[in-house]
Amino acid sequence: MSDAPVDYRPMWTELGLDLEAHDALLGAVGPMYANAYMAQEGRPEGTGYFDFVMSEIHGLRIKELDDFRKAGNKVVGTFCLYVPEEIVRAHGAQCVGLCAGAEFAYDEVERILPRNTCSLIKSFMGFKLGKVCPYMEESDLVIGEATCDGKKKAYELLGELHNVHVMELPQMKRERDKEFWRAEVRDLISKLEELTGNTMTEETLRSAIKEVNDKRRALQRVWKTRKADPVPISGKDALLATQIAFYDDVPRFTQMVNNLADEVEQRVADGVGVAPKGAKRVLVTGAPMSIPNWKIHDIVETSGGVIVSEEMCTGSRYYDKLVDEDGATMDELIDGIADKYLDINCACFTPNEGRMEDILAMAKDWNVDGILHYSLQFCGPYQIEATQVERVAKDAGIPILKIDTDYSMEDVGQLSTRVEAFLEML
Ligand code: SF4
Ligand code: SF4
Repeated sequence: MSDAPVDYRPMWTELGLDLEAHDALLGAVGPMYANAYMAQEGRPEGTGYFDFVMSEIHGLRIKELDDFRKAGNKVVGTFCLYVPEEIVRAHGAQCVGLCAGAEFAYDEVERILPRNTCSLIKSFMGFKLGKVCPYMEESDLVIGEATCDGKKKAYELLGELHNVHVMELPQMKRERDKEFWRAEVRDLISKLEELTGNTMTEETLRSAIKEVNDKRRALQRVWKTRKADPVPISGKDALLATQIAFYDDVPRFTQMVNNLADEVEQRVADGVGVAPKGAKRVLVTGAPMSIPNWKIHDIVETSGGVIVSEEMCTGSRYYDKLVDEDGATMDELIDGIADKYLDINCACFTPNEGRMEDILAMAKDWNVDGILHYSLQFCGPYQIEATQVERVAKDAGIPILKIDTDYSMEDVGQLSTRVEAFLEML
């Protein structure tokens, strides 16, 4: 077999990407990755898989999805944790995460969205308008969700450019909200049946539940090793694993993360770490961080701290709870999925006490020295909820640093100064 690099440009052209803009994006992400990741010392060997996935982020994985679709199957893009991957897979389709973590085509974005929109929304709209995201272009359907107001309204605009279905999400978690959400999940099933031409069976659903739970179990294994001191894997690598979980092939990813878990569990047994024993342990909580958003983790871990857990959608909210595998009927299985997803503690809910409880429990179990609250500017839900997080952290005697930022690199110097002072104070 030849080792000559594969030319993916014909595939990107066929997808309608703007090749020049796409080159500029990949040209920026490569060095960002090299600076943040390859400069780390003592990484577990299992992280080599993530290096490979990142080197092929718009190549091999897109080719796999392309082949999958050309064989008559469907790909579904999602932005949020509330969209149940099990239901998508039980219809023979694959799920890919579309949240984007870089500034792109903001000039075009700001023609249709206010400047003071959070980076996450501006970024995914920029990737669409700038024609640089092959995952978006491989998605036969994009499933949005009525979480925050910015996303809801942005999906209306995205719907003018792409096939979009929006799930309505309750804002509370009472019994009647649960019933409403269960019905919404059943509407999604009808939508996917129409899209794929496949009918979900009890067997396909059971198998999808098991597969996605296995992915979560593998991530949980790695997460639990981060309770050790010294920590066997950096927060940066753990974050990357979760980011990749949103779009990689599920069984392969699970296998590779289980291999990594074997290795980091052995490291814990041998007392091997990526940071010195006694390094200041930080819990990060807040809004999700999508590829290539590694800014906060990079700052903390190059300032001598180590991130031991992420209470965020690219963290524990993604894998800490499993779907019930024991439902006796199809209806029970579907309800089990709906209930598990509604149990995610996003700041779009009111009240959101469950998030406070999760943060405090995690701070204790992962033995953290301090909490870093991360919000994106112009994000009402997380910026406002930071006040409650600060209050419960202070009441529990845990130091907390609140950071509001965006996807630009302009504030890195200022943030580094604040993080260094925080770590020194711990
Ligand atoms: S923070 Fe909330 S809205 Fe954003 S991805 Fe997570 S669950 Fe969805
Ligand atoms: S970061 Fe905040 S404003 Fe932005 S999409 Fe998430 S919840 Fe909405």
